[in-house]
Amino acid sequence: MELIIAANWKMHKTVAETGDFCRFIRQSETLFTGVEVLICPPFTALATASAALKGSSIKLGAQNMHWERQGAFTGEIAAPMLLALGVEYVIIGHSERRHLMGEDDNQIRQKVKTALESGLKPILCVGETEKEREQGLTEAVIEKQLAGALEGLESGKISDLIVAYEPVWAIGTGKAASTADAESAAASICRYFLSNFGEKKVVGLRIQYGGSVKADNIGPYMVLPSVQGALVGGASLEANTFSALIQAARKAVIS
Ligand code: PEP
Repeated sequence: MELIIAANWKMHKTVAETGDFCRFIRQSETLFTGVEVLICPPFTALATASAALKGSSIKLGAQNMHWERQGAFTGEIAAPMLLALGVEYVIIGHSERRHLMGEDDNQIRQKVKTALESGLKPILCVGETEKEREQGLTEAVIEKQLAGALEGLESGKISDLIVAYEPVWAIGTGKAASTADAESAAASICRYFLSNFGEKKVVGLRIQYGGSVKADNIGPYMVLPSVQGALVGGASLEANTFSALIQAARKAVIS
């Protein structure tokens, strides 16, 4: 399965900075062959990124969306608005939204459902806090988050879904999970899909690792049996750093 590497810019970059980044990164796209690359800028920069990436293989993602298609939801963004800008992916349930914005499993489930029904590919984020990890609850937390987000979903839709395993304690801390811990968590995600939807390979599910990934540590994650990509925050903000990271991931899988 092709690796998928996504840049989550969070609340960074103006329109001008986004245009500069996209024009720069697309110059290196021939070095990304075999890796699906996508950029998730803030909503305000999606149109600029879409125009600057036109004709390139680099894809566009959003960082969030509302589950309704339109309505009285001040400050929210709906799936049709994203699709109209050429957005293909949408991050759902990022830990910053769960923990800082109070997003719950019920909201996340509705977002995943609407995204899939609308033709957007959700990147569903799951992962435990440091305290949950210390209590040995990693697998139980992941399973609860998956069940909460996917209950009632038909297995036919799963091939459009990406799951990002992002331990909360590893995000933006410089303290990446060990490859053994990442594989163990990703394998538990595979087992969940196997028992609820059928064989992971058959349904086409891809699992990303996210949490303090950089060019110099990404390689070993990309060759784990249960991992097929990365969700990248801090190391995706500079075009040359992000380009080096993608090339390092590619090198790891082809060598
Ligand atoms: C993220 O926010 O999804 C993330 C993985 O951030 P970082 O790479 O900075 O840890």
